[in-house]
Amino acid sequence: MAAESPQLEAKRRVEYLSIAARSYITRCSSDRVPFRWTINPYRGCEFGCKYCYARYAHEFMELRDPLDFERRIFVKDFDPVRFKQELTALPQGELIALGTATDPYQPAERRYRITRAMLEVFADTCGFRLGITTKSNLIERDIDLFQEISRRHYFTVSVTVTTSDAQLAREIEPLAPRPDLRLAAVRKLVRAGVRATVFCAPVLPLINDGEPDLDSLAKAAAKAGARGFGANVLFLKPCAREVFLPFLEEKFPLLVRRYRERFGKSAYLRGDYPKRVSERVARIRQRYEFDKIPPQAEPDLWRTDPQQRLFPL
Ligand code: SF4
Repeated sequence: MAAESPQLEAKRRVEYLSIAARSYITRCSSDRVPFRWTINPYRGCEFGCKYCYARYAHEFMELRDPLDFERRIFVKDFDPVRFKQELTALPQGELIALGTATDPYQPAERRYRITRAMLEVFADTCGFRLGITTKSNLIERDIDLFQEISRRHYFTVSVTVTTSDAQLAREIEPLAPRPDLRLAAVRKLVRAGVRATVFCAPVLPLINDGEPDLDSLAKAAAKAGARGFGANVLFLKPCAREVFLPFLEEKFPLLVRRYRERFGKSAYLRGDYPKRVSERVARIRQRYEFDKIPPQAEPDLWRTDPQQRLFPL
């Protein structure tokens, strides 16, 4: 499929290609995540985060160079009628995540607007639990749609901010918008009545995991009005290791041996470290009273769908 994809455009560093989508909404069987369905408007992501686990998605298209993931971006052909049919065939109340293997607000979205076209369909349906994850302040563009979607679905935007240190962010997430721009987007979303949270992911051992680092990020998130704060420890699948370990060798050479040892046998860290990070994050959440934020209110139009009335949640 990759070899046959027509080219849409090429920049100095990135090539955009068109790809047909067999289906837009994919069932997720992992028990490590809370959602059941995923939607990814693009394949590949120009932000090029050094730790990105989604590089595997290009391996399915027989693109073996891990850098292809950030240099060959596939734009899905979008048919709103087919998308709506797929969406409305799902049981009401299902948890859907938009942007799990690509950032839905990466630079390609400015031009191709596939994410926005998908959101327009959500703004015309009701009764799902939708979450969007992004590192981009381009998300502000769609506030008008989010206000309508929030009346119809349980809806949350999760803005990923790995560190409040702009220099560090530039190194680990080279083309993603600066942390302060992401936090400003959170502020705008919340002011517009859209539920937005801040998520620090990944927590990188000995790089951004110190209590002062996480504390300053949570403090900035609270100041922006975020309705939640969380964090996840790094995991390193083989496709991510190929990019992340050379990056460490260049920027953090003293950490290479420890990372190789700890991630040598498994992509996931086990034992004391993840437990201590989660205790640290729990303390910080309490400090900024994230744990006192009430649960999301029921959307205005949640029960207007006949199926919801038949079998309320
Ligand atoms: S923004 Fe997400 S999908 Fe894009 S490169 Fe970074 S981690 Fe990967």
